[in-house]
Amino acid sequence: MLKPGATIGILGGGQLARMLALAAAPLGLRCHVYSPENDSCAFDVVHAGTCASYDDESALGRFAGTVDVITYEFENVPAKTAAFLARRKPVLPDPQVLETTQDRLVEKDFISALKIATASYAPVHSATQLLQGVKAVGLPAVLKTRQLGYDGKGQVKIAKGGDPAAAWRAVRNAPCILESFVNFELEISVVVARSRDGKVECFEVTENEHRDHILKVSRVPAKVSPTLAREARQIATRIAKAFSYVGVLAVEMFVVRGDRRAMVMVNEIAPRVHNSGHWTIDGATVSQFEQHVRAVAGWPLARPMRLGRRVEMLNLIGSELNDAAKWLTVPGASVHIYGKGEPRPGRKMGHVTRVWPA
Ligand code: AMP
Repeated sequence: MLKPGATIGILGGGQLARMLALAAAPLGLRCHVYSPENDSCAFDVVHAGTCASYDDESALGRFAGTVDVITYEFENVPAKTAAFLARRKPVLPDPQVLETTQDRLVEKDFISALKIATASYAPVHSATQLLQGVKAVGLPAVLKTRQLGYDGKGQVKIAKGGDPAAAWRAVRNAPCILESFVNFELEISVVVARSRDGKVECFEVTENEHRDHILKVSRVPAKVSPTLAREARQIATRIAKAFSYVGVLAVEMFVVRGDRRAMVMVNEIAPRVHNSGHWTIDGATVSQFEQHVRAVAGWPLARPMRLGRRVEMLNLIGSELNDAAKWLTVPGASVHIYGKGEPRPGRKMGHVTRVWPA
């Protein structure tokens, strides 16, 4: 168990690291951020920062020497970096989780092995295998690169009657997974925390609306039945337990109409704090960031409760940052600006949370 004054090392210096550090401070814990980009927005709010590449072993060694535990804000931490650090300090969540979640095919196999529903899928490593995959899962379908995809990047939809060869060219022959296109009613996610001693706390099911593949709005309560909400939380709990996970993870799911009632399919696991959990900073008694800090510090988790009748989180993407000022005077609204410099299209620049009193 870390003592107040201890230091948490964070790999990655974006807004998630920034909000983790902001949540650690009231608990008396310090953060040291390690990021290869010198304009990383988390550097502004931390006790210490290292700007070096993820393969710089002397910088990694020095970083490990100054921290008590190491965590990360993104799932693409190179395996070698994680292994190097894990030999020096505890890395939480365990880097083994990254081996599963860095590869969409391994991840889908992991979820299926838990007997949790996903879209039907097939591995694709060649143009011929793509045709076999199309036969197996049908069209429409989505071809996704196995690695390094996010916010719809590395994804191509193949329409009914569409040309698989064109999709294969678009992903530049990268190893892929072909998924049947899910005609979902709703997208939801569950953010779940597991402590070092195995206790689990789920946040409320969150309803998510995407625009151009990027999360635009998250809402709680989600428009789902209590039964479906329970199922979704159980799925997230089973995944966290199967990994013996320590920290916060998010499970993105589709709600689909089954034969008799709505059911849940898992789309993706994010082994980190997640955009769809940002509402918890202002809208819950404990935030996902504090919960993650508690977990990696070996502290007990809090039981989260929603504040307000409903809560909505709106991402400020690209030039929408310029709208931030208009929210400052809206009752119940909290403005979060990440301090990322130039607002490029598609870049998450901040968010606004609105809480409607109970
Ligand atoms: P991902 O990068 O897998 O999280 O996908 C980003 C978004 O693309 C999801 O939130 C969905 O809106 C959409 N999407 C991904 N996979 C599928 C699928 N198999 N069927 C329908 N929509 C999908």
